[in-house]
Amino acid sequence: MRAAVFKAPGTPLVIENVPDPTPEPEELLIEVRACGICGTDLHWTQGTDPTAGWRTLNPGAVLGHEFSGEIVEVGRDLRGKWKVGERVCAQPFIGCGRCPACLAGRAYRCPTVITRASDRLTGAYAQLARIGATETLRLPEAVDYHTGALVEPLAVGLAAVRRARLQPGDNALIIGAGPVGLAVAMFTRHLGASHVVVSDLVGARAERATEFGATAAIDASREDVRERFERITGGPPSVVYDCVGVPGSMQLAIDHAPPESRVVVVGLCMAADHFFPARAIVKELDIAFAYVYTRRDFEIVVDLLGRERIDPSAMVTAAVDLDHFPHAFEALRRPTDQIKVMVEPNRI
Ligand SMILES: [Zn+2]
Ligand SMILES: [Zn+2]
Repeated sequence: MRAAVFKAPGTPLVIENVPDPTPEPEELLIEVRACGICGTDLHWTQGTDPTAGWRTLNPGAVLGHEFSGEIVEVGRDLRGKWKVGERVCAQPFIGCGRCPACLAGRAYRCPTVITRASDRLTGAYAQLARIGATETLRLPEAVDYHTGALVEPLAVGLAAVRRARLQPGDNALIIGAGPVGLAVAMFTRHLGASHVVVSDLVGARAERATEFGATAAIDASREDVRERFERITGGPPSVVYDCVGVPGSMQLAIDHAPPESRVVVVGLCMAADHFFPARAIVKELDIAFAYVYTRRDFEIVVDLLGRERIDPSAMVTAAVDLDHFPHAFEALRRPTDQIKVMVEPNRI
């Protein structure tokens, strides 16, 4: 199969032929129809600080964890349960399916989990991908492949909102209008927040969030965020989300949070950062970190999409074939108007 292969930090991915993956008895093989480019992959291919607690990428790795596809082969033990031709999406790791973590839908905590972009499992910036049956969900009729590939980043947003213990009537401030911030806005609104205010240093990006559930936008380059928030909603936020994930953004979230409120850190900062604990302590903030999602989060997202209760389709702003993919990937390192760029590895 053809795949986008990582060679070395700071160099573009290279399209190459690599061996076709073979599904294990409890796995499926899919032809990847769409895979979203994620900021995590951009950071990762730039080279990560080994002390950051984030695995370094080996040369030869194939990334891509936000995908949908069509089943082309069914593992031996799954015959009768899954069919060739079914349209699916999947969580981007494979657990054992039997341990307490897997049974709770948290395969990423499975002691023997196989993670994507590792030597044992290629990612979906490729024509084919192995997926675990336990981690796989069928896509309803109403969900096309692009939207199917949005299930993963949407589930990140849903999990973050779950971590915020959102109550109907809460007012939320979301810092950062990238894909994560937009997904958080969508579910914060869907789960009953009154005001969902998104701030971004680029005014046009913040404004765009109003297409995805935000009730107001703040241009943080020109406006005082806290003052503006209070003018819009009549009071301080009950929840503040850091959806930026750069050094300093967590402190910003803490500073915008009023006493006894909640802060959820969901932007993935891979660099060392420092903050002033005293500023959080005197406010008695509840600070939560959100990482990934459970199987249940995936199910909820797929269900809401299938019933057309949420519509994130405008998040997909471009789609490229595999040949144009490395260039499209590198282009996202510079400031851009794109939200989510999809690669369609099997586009002819
Ligand atoms: Zn991602
Ligand atoms: Zn397990």
